[in-house]
Amino acid sequence: MIKENLNAVEQAVAAACRRAGRKREEVTLIAVSKTKPLPDLKEAYEAGARDFGENKVQELTDKIPSLPADIRWHMIGHLQRNKVKYIVGKVSMIHSVDSLRLAEEISKEAVRRDTEVDILIEVNVAGEESKYGVSPAALPELVKQIAALQRIHIKGLMTIAPFTENPEDNRLFFRKLKQLSVDIEGKNIDNVNMAVLSMGMTGDYIVAIEEGATCVRVGTGIFGERYYGASKES
Ligand SMILES: *Cc1c(COP(=O)(O)O)cnc(C)c1O
Repeated sequence: MIKENLNAVEQAVAAACRRAGRKREEVTLIAVSKTKPLPDLKEAYEAGARDFGENKVQELTDKIPSLPADIRWHMIGHLQRNKVKYIVGKVSMIHSVDSLRLAEEISKEAVRRDTEVDILIEVNVAGEESKYGVSPAALPELVKQIAALQRIHIKGLMTIAPFTENPEDNRLFFRKLKQLSVDIEGKNIDNVNMAVLSMGMTGDYIVAIEEGATCVRVGTGIFGERYYGASKES
């Protein structure tokens, strides 16, 4: 089933790119495999997935050694400073940086390991109280401060749009994230690149692509519903 789902999402991504006048290669499809067992990830890998997204450090570091080395791992969940050391050097991008203190920790760890880390800044575009992410108003200053740190490179912005039944409701938030990235690009800050826009999930990735997403993060649409035992989704 995962193979068929992945193919269907791939078709939908390609169609959205065509409609938006964009090249298919401009959009990376990230298979969000959180809570899913290794055989599911292997099936997605065999069907062609090479970018996987996870939101928990423990689960991510457990899965990495069991899967092929050419997978690009994306940390998409909230990251605590005391866990930074477990993922620096292992993931190809951290999508969820939203504070200077977290960025400083990543920078320190990158220096210690003599490596470089690509990150996105998570923005709370809808101003939802329950969500992580920097506010649009505080974004420019945060970008400037993080850009000055060693070994950490801002590659763009990420947002988690509100949960909604109607993806059209999120179009303005995606448009807003795009506009924020254009504004920052215009400032020409050293060590800041705004090439990546990580936005859109199962319910709204088509709209996100139409509004300029370069990474869409699709979980349920590929792997099916997630079942959480006693613990809640974070
Ligand atoms: C779980 C998750 C997704 C995928 O959500 P689906 O609705 O299952 O596609 C995308 N982004 C983040 C940050 C997530 O935590």
